[in-house]
Amino acid sequence: MPWVDKDECVGCGICVGECPVNAISMKNGKAVINMKKCIRCKKCHEVCPKKAIRHDSERNQKEVYKNENSNKFNR
Ligand code: SF4
Ligand code: SF4
Repeated sequence: MPWVDKDECVGCGICVGECPVNAISMKNGKAVINMKKCIRCKKCHEVCPKKAIRHDSERNQKEVYKNENSNKFNR
């Protein structure tokens, strides 16, 4: 699932217009994704000039990396 990095989003609204199923809206100047509508096409991720829309896999990869390294150090 995509998620918005609110620290990076500048509220330009580009992603809102690009989403094919209108799953993105603006709230308090930040993009918000309606997960019930989202079809995970990743279009928002591609068009965001701030790379503020991330994907779960990215977040997980960071955690996996951290875990792998902590395992190495613990051996
Ligand atoms: S992944 Fe696609 S469907 Fe989901 S919010 Fe982004 S543009 Fe819309
Ligand atoms: S395109 Fe990126 S910076 Fe612009 S509103 Fe969407 S998430 Fe925020």
